[in-house]
Amino acid sequence: MSEHGSDGQRPRVAVVGGDGIGPEVVAEGLRVIAAADVELETEHYDLGGHRYLADGTVLPDSVLEEWRDFDAIYLGAVGAPGVPPGVIERGLLLKMRFELDLFVNRRPFKVTAPDDQGTTQSHDFVVIRENTEGTYAGEGGFLRKGTPHEIATQGSVNTRFGVERCIRYAYELAESRRNHLTLVHKTNVLTFSGDLWERSFHEVGATHPEVETAYNHVDAACIYFVQDPQRYDVIVTDNLFGDILTDLGGAVSGGIGLAASANLNPSYSGPSMFEPVHGSAPDIAGQNKANPIAAILSGALMLEFLGAPEPARRIEQACDACSDLEGSTSDLTDAVIAKL
Ligand code: ATP
Repeated sequence: MSEHGSDGQRPRVAVVGGDGIGPEVVAEGLRVIAAADVELETEHYDLGGHRYLADGTVLPDSVLEEWRDFDAIYLGAVGAPGVPPGVIERGLLLKMRFELDLFVNRRPFKVTAPDDQGTTQSHDFVVIRENTEGTYAGEGGFLRKGTPHEIATQGSVNTRFGVERCIRYAYELAESRRNHLTLVHKTNVLTFSGDLWERSFHEVGATHPEVETAYNHVDAACIYFVQDPQRYDVIVTDNLFGDILTDLGGAVSGGIGLAASANLNPSYSGPSMFEPVHGSAPDIAGQNKANPIAAILSGALMLEFLGAPEPARRIEQACDACSDLEGSTSDLTDAVIAKL
């Protein structure tokens, strides 16, 4: 495993189009990457809700083993009507996240707002969400289930190792940007996990003295996301808060058709996974109506991570120039390619 460019090899990418609009938008993302003159070695995998409905397959261990030798996974969207809830989410997406140790979820946002002179300014910021622990680790259970005395517990798992590696990644990212990092938590109420996060944040921060830090409670951060997102550059937060905040971030920065995400293993000891935030949108599938920008931007994140920042930046700028356009899936992709 290596960063693209360091050994001159074409990056190996496993492509999972998935369901609904997934295959359409991923195909457009690959078209843009090719137009940006980046050569990938791709292998397509037929997985997703449709495959589960056809033969019960979700994510075989053999496929997971094959993927360990890839540099990246480029995923469209998975989920289809008729598949029971949780089957694909737990069996494919979460399994990938845990088995491939994709411990960083990185989501970039771009907002526009008028400045004091009334000129529209754009501002970009990034949320780094811990992706393998917290309340999503599956700790908990039922007692006396189905009786009037039933109890359900859902613990939040926060390991020093897991919290620290995520925070370390966030500091390094902040250093490569504007040297500003905000921790978002709820330390006043979640006094155990919040304490661990806060101590880790300051201890790792001691080795990054040039990074200015801030702290927001998650409820305050929700207000700032809407009213004053310009205060942020890089945000680091736990799994649950990150899940909610990033959806809010998507809503204040252009909507579901533009939101890209990366699930990263920053040690490069296995592939990282790149996907648009939106789902399979069965209501518009197969009609050339889906906005491909989120998938194209996810492709740009993939190129950046694979060590090709220059084409990644060109694709991003081309998407920015087209983010207000309307049109069919293929028209929008053509417009992005024309801007490259
Ligand atoms: P999931 O549970 O997989 O997230 P969902 O139905 O809750 O599925 P989406 O599939 O993201 O969420 O769809 C939500 C709405 O947004 C739908 O009306 C869909 O048509 C629309 N939508 C989602 N992605 C896009 C896109 N890329 N372009 C245009 N509309 C989209």
